Amino acid sequence: MALDLHRIRAETPGCHDLAFFDSAGSSLPPAPVLDTVIGHLRREAEVGGYRAAAERAADLAAVKDAIGALIGAPAGTIALSDSATRAWCDFFYAVPLRAGQRIVVTGVDYASNAIAALQRARAAGAEVVVLPSDADGRVDLDALDAVLDERVALVSLVHVPTNSGLVAPVREIADRAHAVGAPVLLDACQSVGQVTVDARELGVDALTATGRKWLRGPRGTGFLYVRPELIERIEPRSLDLHSAQWVAEGEYCVASDAARFETWEADVAARLGLGAAVRYLLELGPDHVFAAITRRAAGIRERLAALPAVTVRDPVGGALGGIVSFTVDGVDPDRVQAALFDRGVVVSVTRRGSTLRDMTARGLTAAVRASAHAFVSDVDVDRLVDGIVGLDVRPRS
Ligand SMILES: *Cc1c(COP(=O)(O)O)cnc(C)c1O
Repeated sequence: MALDLHRIRAETPGCHDLAFFDSAGSSLPPAPVLDTVIGHLRREAEVGGYRAAAERAADLAAVKDAIGALIGAPAGTIALSDSATRAWCDFFYAVPLRAGQRIVVTGVDYASNAIAALQRARAAGAEVVVLPSDADGRVDLDALDAVLDERVALVSLVHVPTNSGLVAPVREIADRAHAVGAPVLLDACQSVGQVTVDARELGVDALTATGRKWLRGPRGTGFLYVRPELIERIEPRSLDLHSAQWVAEGEYCVASDAARFETWEADVAARLGLGAAVRYLLELGPDHVFAAITRRAAGIRERLAALPAVTVRDPVGGALGGIVSFTVDGVDPDRVQAALFDRGVVVSVTRRGSTLRDMTARGLTAAVRASAHAFVSDVDVDRLVDGIVGLDVRPRS
C-alpha cells in the first residue's frame, strides 16, 4: 500500500505552519512520539522515574526489537545511546590501535569522527589515511587496494554524508577491508530512516545512527549496532553497573550482549519515544517512506536546477539520497536560510567545518541543505522554490 500523505501530515503536528526541509538536521516527530515522551514525563512526575520505568519495562525492551527489525539485526546486537556521536565513539575508542597502524577514512568524514580519529592516531602513533575519491566525493574503488593492507586497524565509512545526496558503496568497501582483516565501522546517521539499511547485507562490523534525524525520534537518542560475532571480543573503554556486573572483590564481568556499550542512566521518555518513532516508520512501511524521500529529493533538485541563480551541489549521476545541497549566486547560505525562514520555510546550512575535506575539495565554505521527509507536500516544495525565486539575488557590492 502506498503512503497516505494526508494521514502522515495529519499525524505531524509541526508540518502545518511550516514547510519543513530539515529532517537531516532534526526532523518533526509524529504525534505518537510526542505523546509517548510527554506521557512518560508526566508519569515520572506522578510516581517517580524508577516506578515509571518499571511500568514500561516491556516497552523499553521492545525499543531494541523495533530498531533490530528496521536494520535486520537481533535486539542483543543493539546498544541504546544518547547520540550517534556517543555511540560511534563508544565503538571507535574500543578498537585496539597500535603505533604504526592505520585508521582508514573517507573524504566525506563527519567532523566529530574525524576529530576522534586524529586524537587517537596522535595518541597511539598511528596514522589517518583518507581513501581517494573523485570530484563528487565518491570513493575511488580502484584506489582501495593500494590503501588496504595488514596495517589497517579500522575502516571508518559514512553511509550518507551530512552535506549531500551521496550514498557510499558500503558493501564493496567492507568486503575488501575484511579481506585484509580490518573491521568496518559505519556512520549510518544520515541513512537510517532515509534509505534501506540492513546491517548484515552491508557487511559492517558496527554501525551508528541518531534518533532525531530521519527516524523522527526525540533529541538525545541514538544507537550502536555491533556484529554479533564481535560483541564479546570488544570491551568498551568505560563500563558501569549496567554494562558490567561487579561479581566479587576484584572481579567484574561485562554484559555478553551489546548492552556492554550502554550506561544505566538514560532518558527513559526519550528512549520510549525512539521506540515509538521506529515503530511508526515500520508501520508506514520503510520501503514506501524511503521511495517517497528519494522521489521528493529528485523533484526538488530538478526544480532548483531550473532556477538560473541556483547551483545544485549534489554529485551528478548515480543514485542519490534525500539530502539536497545547493547554493544561490551572490547570496550567502545563512541569508538564504534566514530569508526562507521568514516565509515559513525551514532549511539548514551545512558548513565546511562539518565535512572539512569534502567541502574544501569542492571549494565550498557552506551550502544550503534541504532535506524533505515523507510528510513534505507539493505545496511545501512550491513554497521553497518561490522563496528562493523571491530572494534578492543581485551580488552584494
Ligand atoms: C548528524 C550526524 C552525526 C552526529 O549525530 P549526533 O546524533 O549529533 O551525534 C554523525 N554523522 C553524520 C553523517 C551526521 O550527519
